[in-house]
Amino acid sequence: MTDGTPLCPECDADVDMPLDAMENELISCAECGIELEIMSLDPIELELAPEVEEDWGE
Ligand SMILES: [Zn+2]
Repeated sequence: MTDGTPLCPECDADVDMPLDAMENELISCAECGIELEIMSLDPIELELAPEVEEDWGE
């Protein structure tokens, strides 16, 4: 599963996958800086991460 570098769905740049990448992890595109969620590792599927306003529940 080392063949094929995932492409950023936003700008089509190659996205460097962390060696210890896990499903549902968020990574960012080095090219455009957008946040991507790893939907699947085999095959690698990336989706734009939803812009979530973190609410820490005060
Ligand atoms: Zn990008």
